[in-house]
Amino acid sequence: MKFEIKDTFNKELDADPINENYIRQVHNACFSYVNPTPCSNPTLIHYSTDIMDAIGLNVEDVQTDEFLQIFAGNKIYPSTRPYAMCYGGHQFGHWAGQLGDGRAINLFEVHHKGQRWALQLKGAGLTPYSRNADGYAVLRSSIREYLCSEAMFHLGVPTTRALSLVLSGDEVLRDIMYNGNSAYEAGAIVCRVAPSFIRFGNFQILTSRKEFALLTSLTDYTIHHFYNHLGTPSKEVYIAFIREVANRTIEMVIDWERVGFVHGVMNTDNMSILGLTIDYGPYGWLEDYNPNWTPNTTDARDARYRFGNQANIAIWNVYQLANALYPIIEKAEPLETIINGLKENYEKKHYSMMLQKLGLLEDGTFDKNALLDFEHLLYKSQMDMTIFFRSLSCFDGIDVDLHLDLLPSFSYALDFTKFKNDWATWLQSYGQIIQKQNNSCRKSQMNAVNPKYVLRNYMAQIAIDAADKRDFSVIDELYNLLKKPYDEQPEMEKWFAKRPEWANQKIGCAMLSCSS
Ligand code: AMP
Ligand code: MG
Repeated sequence: MKFEIKDTFNKELDADPINENYIRQVHNACFSYVNPTPCSNPTLIHYSTDIMDAIGLNVEDVQTDEFLQIFAGNKIYPSTRPYAMCYGGHQFGHWAGQLGDGRAINLFEVHHKGQRWALQLKGAGLTPYSRNADGYAVLRSSIREYLCSEAMFHLGVPTTRALSLVLSGDEVLRDIMYNGNSAYEAGAIVCRVAPSFIRFGNFQILTSRKEFALLTSLTDYTIHHFYNHLGTPSKEVYIAFIREVANRTIEMVIDWERVGFVHGVMNTDNMSILGLTIDYGPYGWLEDYNPNWTPNTTDARDARYRFGNQANIAIWNVYQLANALYPIIEKAEPLETIINGLKENYEKKHYSMMLQKLGLLEDGTFDKNALLDFEHLLYKSQMDMTIFFRSLSCFDGIDVDLHLDLLPSFSYALDFTKFKNDWATWLQSYGQIIQKQNNSCRKSQMNAVNPKYVLRNYMAQIAIDAADKRDFSVIDELYNLLKKPYDEQPEMEKWFAKRPEWANQKIGCAMLSCSS
């Protein structure tokens, strides 16, 4: 197994001079060297063939013991030096100080076919940033991260990826719902892959400590490697950098809205500087269309990170990033202009995206008020988002009754008859618009933006329940299904289904916490 190693982060930025692995505040450094903690009896559960190809490996490489040992954290690849990054963040709106890679350890950067990939183990033991936790991850949350990050990529949503899912052979103690019921669970390690894992919080921690020289180095590093098209770093380029990060972040949220994804913990330490979806924890997928929904029980009271609030939070987070970079820009006005423009920018994109989901052309016939009314109708009639939009492409615009008859089976409402008239009226007027617009590509265009399959929480839970009994076949089935989320895959129709009754109140399906 041979990688083309091209490390940059730990070569070009300042390291913590202390090499011992104990928990501490790390000043004047972007990272600390730390090796993964070996695990006792690793097993490779699954790997992504896409990422295997992307980093220049073949199937024979993946099947070696060397691969297993490296991606279980038991062996260090020659001439590399693993490290954990230092970052801070705002958690649930409050500055939390130093956080950092408490259970992520970056192995190395690989260069392949003109692309750089950073490889990072999640759940491979303590680091200087582990605070009061153990540095490990449990199997259930690792399956969720592994499957979802790959699924998101195939949905066309910017995301970190995953190379491998390894069962560590060791047990980890967790109190899933934080209610005093701790239990041992199987430990696991995911190898995550992305061009970079830098977060908003990597910049914030430096500013909070007035480490401005390092802040400049980190910003210049990020621009040089990932925003090179912006040119040689200068104050103007820093402003352009924030503008582009802001736009990418909004685009990412629009994609989340399109597919019904709720991240669950949009703290600034979970915001990628590349605009990638990062840190899959208590995320969820909207089933009944409820903009107030969040899967994260830790956030149940305020629902700060609810589906319909993700754009507001993204803007708030970009504002925090702008604050972090202000000391090296020293001009408030251009930053204010960027922030102030984001809401409008978002609203335009949201409107266009929703029109695409509806298969409508932007000719003004279906205006913003019509969209609001429609979203409200989806909400109050508890329509399953994925099934509703996917099926709408089959409506011909003429046979209202035929489509109306299907709707009760897409809804979670106990008594759908209450909404029948509203939907009949809506289908009638929508039907008239599509007849008038007469877009012959409507169906295929709709099916390219409305997935047939997403990783509903109950689906991940079925894979987890099987894996707990050492049956990993559902992981493989879902991995393959979600590689083609826009294809019909008639043999997989059983996954094109509303959330089953049993999942309504089950932990892991309706309820998730940050415990992972
Ligand atoms: P999260 O909310 O999962 O994004 O995590 C917030 C912070 O807690 C990050 O600094 C994580 O590295 C850290 N963290 C979460 N779980 C663990 C764990 N089991 N061990 C060590 N650090 C953790
Ligand atoms: Mg995190």
